[in-house]
Amino acid sequence: MKVLITGGAGFIGSHLAERHLSMGDEVDIIDNLSTSDMTNVQHLESHENCNCVIDDILNVDVMRKLVSGCDLIYHLAAAVGVEYVLQNPLQTLTTNIRGTEIVLELANEQKKRVVLLSTSEIYGKKNGHVPFREDSDRILGPTTVVRWSYSTTKAVDELLALAYWREKRLPTTIVRPFNVIGPRQTGRYGMVVPRFIRQALLGDPITVYDNGEQTRCWTYIDDAVDGLIALAQSDDAAGEILNLGSNFESSIKDLAIKIKAQTNSDSEIAFIPFSETRRNGLYEDLVYRAPDLEKIRGLVGYDPKVDLDEALRRIIEDFQK
Ligand code: UDP
Repeated sequence: MKVLITGGAGFIGSHLAERHLSMGDEVDIIDNLSTSDMTNVQHLESHENCNCVIDDILNVDVMRKLVSGCDLIYHLAAAVGVEYVLQNPLQTLTTNIRGTEIVLELANEQKKRVVLLSTSEIYGKKNGHVPFREDSDRILGPTTVVRWSYSTTKAVDELLALAYWREKRLPTTIVRPFNVIGPRQTGRYGMVVPRFIRQALLGDPITVYDNGEQTRCWTYIDDAVDGLIALAQSDDAAGEILNLGSNFESSIKDLAIKIKAQTNSDSEIAFIPFSETRRNGLYEDLVYRAPDLEKIRGLVGYDPKVDLDEALRRIIEDFQK
């Protein structure tokens, strides 16, 4: 089988490429390196079954060729990360909406199977400690808060994919990942785990926003890749939306404490009011985010195994290399 991974030089894409290559599949990657790095895939480039194209998914001619040569498309290319979205509001809209339109249009020409990476940001700022189900309502703030523009682009992507499925029977699966973490994830665009690890290893203050009582559920990359591949192989997943996450939950404060301990760091844990961060006014924090995993468990037997302590151990080890 030949697999096309848009955004394949990114954190999740590079791990997915690695796994497909180890399964004996051929892998084409297209990435414009806007938020990723060739070092993520350097070790794959020499693999005889891997082909890396450095180009933009908005380049229709290049994309048409890649799509026609593959059996399965994972569409991961997108503008992501708080810092990137804040600095590039226009490009976020164009890449995430027009880019997905192109992928789906071309996939539809030849009815290729598509797995579309959406986001748990879709749910917005729902309060109350009830895990988010795929059919839950979405609660978003005003358009002036940039956080919601990212969520909205992904909602448009989902609507496009659902419309292609309903009207054209294009077999697409929509996946909403929850705080995926692992080696090769960069903290450059805001993601908290690599940021805290870097701060701890450098002896800098670990910057917990507000009181750190906000919680997240952490999904280790290997579990996320297991889930993505299982969904791509499931005919029953076509036309479906699925959460991909874990119930390994912690507060951001506990995350900072764990990282400080695991790195034997002398860093202080600094509590910074959200109003004093660069995100203030343009970004709202979410106090709670957890997935309901019943649907993906029932469909493909998904069962995440790597808890936060083990995930941190592996990521810190990789950082230290
Ligand atoms: N966060 C933090 N300090 C940082 C970066 C992030 O306390 O230096 C918090 C952030 O406010 C949020 C959580 O960590 O509550 C996760 O942030 P991230 O940007 O990784 O992802 P999110 O889940 O918000 O999309």
